[in-house]
Amino acid sequence: MRTTIAAGNWKMNTNSRTGVELASALAGGLQTKAPTCEVIVCPPFPYLAAVVAAVRGTGIQVGAQDLYHQEDGAYTGEVSAAMLLDVGCTHALIGHSERRHVLKECHGLINLKLKAALKAGLQGIFCVGETLAERDAWQTEKVLDEQMCRGLAGITAEQMAAVVIAYEPVWAIGTGVTATTAQAEEAHRSLRGWLQSHYSSEVAEKTRILYGGSVKPGNARELVDQPNVDGALVGGASLEADSFLKIIAAVG
Ligand code: PEP
Repeated sequence: MRTTIAAGNWKMNTNSRTGVELASALAGGLQTKAPTCEVIVCPPFPYLAAVVAAVRGTGIQVGAQDLYHQEDGAYTGEVSAAMLLDVGCTHALIGHSERRHVLKECHGLINLKLKAALKAGLQGIFCVGETLAERDAWQTEKVLDEQMCRGLAGITAEQMAAVVIAYEPVWAIGTGVTATTAQAEEAHRSLRGWLQSHYSSEVAEKTRILYGGSVKPGNARELVDQPNVDGALVGGASLEADSFLKIIAAVG
């Protein structure tokens, strides 16, 4: 049985006041009814420590939205896995579509970042997903295969225990267009098949695969009800405590 996950990606939103208010409201909302799913929030770097403090003791985990693979040194503007652990992070998003497409991150860099996160002891939420043009050209499976092969290259079956996959079709992120439950389940089933053929049945069975792309309180339950969907990675709807709490309730 895989424990489901509700993860919130705040992207480049909130400030030092509203970030802590949001985290505190989530903590307060979960106090009365503890979820059965894992809850993770991913604030911007400057607010990580304050959010960690705001959710301490509540079971809410805090993740970063990215990291750099080098341990330290002359990498102006970058943040290492050790720094994230130092401020209390447990997770990091790696390979989010905005980093792939807006920041032009390549497979090789994403692979180095995921390896660095795992080596340091962070859990990696490794994001994959196809663009609309790729889906329309029937390339979804090929694109996912390449992202999985190159992103997970050199990562052992043992290390996979600390990896969560997030399937996020690019055309559904921030657009209000959600994949149908059938589209989501089909992609998740194929990703689990990939894990089985490239690792083992055990890794495939244990790895959580989250869906991301315009998840809202109204569609979270039907998505997570699919046999291969193990939770949600939520952008916009995680910025409002009420809506994220409803999604958490649907996921957990
Ligand atoms: C995301 O940022 O990972 C995401 C899925 O965004 P949204 O829920 O806003 O589509």
